[in-house]
Amino acid sequence: MLSEPRLRVEFPMWAGASDDQWNDWKWQFRNRISTSVQLNAGFALTRGEQDAAERSKEFFRLGVTPHYATLIDPDDPFCPIRLQAIPQIEELIRLDHEMADPLNEDADSPAPGLTHRYPDRVLLLVTHECALYCRYCTRRRIVGDRAGSHRERIDAAIDYIRATSSIRDVLISGGEPLGLSDDRLEDILAKLRRIDHVEIIRIGTRMPVVMPQRITPALVAMLRRHHPLWLNTHFNHPFELMPRVTREAMERLVDAGIPTGNQTVLLKGVNDCPIVMRKLFHELVKLRCRPYYLYNCDLAEGLGHFRTPVDTGLAIMESLWGHTSGLAIPTFIVDAPGGGGKIPLLPDYKVSRGNGSVVLRNYQGKQFTYSEGEVAEPAIDGVCRICATDHSSIKTGPAAQLWNSRRAPLSCN
Ligand SMILES: *Cc1c(COP(=O)(O)O)cnc(C)c1O
Ligand code: SF4
Repeated sequence: MLSEPRLRVEFPMWAGASDDQWNDWKWQFRNRISTSVQLNAGFALTRGEQDAAERSKEFFRLGVTPHYATLIDPDDPFCPIRLQAIPQIEELIRLDHEMADPLNEDADSPAPGLTHRYPDRVLLLVTHECALYCRYCTRRRIVGDRAGSHRERIDAAIDYIRATSSIRDVLISGGEPLGLSDDRLEDILAKLRRIDHVEIIRIGTRMPVVMPQRITPALVAMLRRHHPLWLNTHFNHPFELMPRVTREAMERLVDAGIPTGNQTVLLKGVNDCPIVMRKLFHELVKLRCRPYYLYNCDLAEGLGHFRTPVDTGLAIMESLWGHTSGLAIPTFIVDAPGGGGKIPLLPDYKVSRGNGSVVLRNYQGKQFTYSEGEVAEPAIDGVCRICATDHSSIKTGPAAQLWNSRRAPLSCN
């Protein structure tokens, strides 16, 4: 079904590299393609790509790791790996509804580099640098500069987390957090671990995709000292999972007891196809990595050529539910512009409701009636019989009405 991409292009700048160098993540990092001239030496760039690469400093830094470059088909301008790594001229287009900070991360920030949007968890950006600069990056307003990883800045964010006891989950992201050295990373993890109310730590990284050499036994041994620690990767296409070094990196993480998840961004021309998506999710599950979120592309500037209508994502979700393992199905998310947060969307399986029953359709389009019987539970003031708390304090919106109508006084059992 999917043909194997050409795994190695001979690049003049890497021609003399030994296997040891190639397998060393620091060598990979130092030897990234970062100019249009270097890019042109390995790939026959289209006119638009050449212009975009030359002007990339104006809008978003260029950087491609040797590992990821070998996944690009040098002869195919539509290669799904190429589109993620080589700038296209469309990145220069600005649309009226696009924004520099579409998710309002800077406004919801109690300390530089920290976003506290949801009650019990925070997003901690520990660096602005990445191994590879993904052409669809939503944080392009800050990613690529060198200002993100100052120790004092990170310490100030950790001080806020320490002082805010509602935070039980810290999501370390960037930029690329695994671009920091093992020691710097361990310093951050150890400081977070010393905070009693921080229950779990999560790392969001694209290293297993773009520079799997980074997932060294030493790194993994360090990470496992800070359990419970979860790790989310960022695969967008099944080709990215083919190299042995990538698969070994993913297995090394899970073998250390680190549960892995994956976030995929839905990108036109890259993965807006139900067959490619299903293959990607199947390959991830084989590596014990759980597809977590499928994101609709954000409204960041210059991403118009990557965006799909919301219905495309819904159609892909519909092609999955019932047709394959629930384990291989992520939640489809639109991250609301303006800081509204993640909104999950499902195809609508509810056909109608009334007279105490709901009509639903299944994955084959067949309809079924589910009778709810008499739902005459009166709204009773008081606390929940099960958990003994007042739900109105923890729920808002339509869910509150439902929960409140189900409340019953503790004394009635
Ligand atoms: C995505 C995100 C989180 C984590 O959300 P989950 O749904 O728990 O994975 C936390 N904070 C911010 C600002 C985020 O964007
Ligand atoms: S790894 Fe993440 S932060 Fe870095 S360029 Fe890619 S999408 Fe942006």
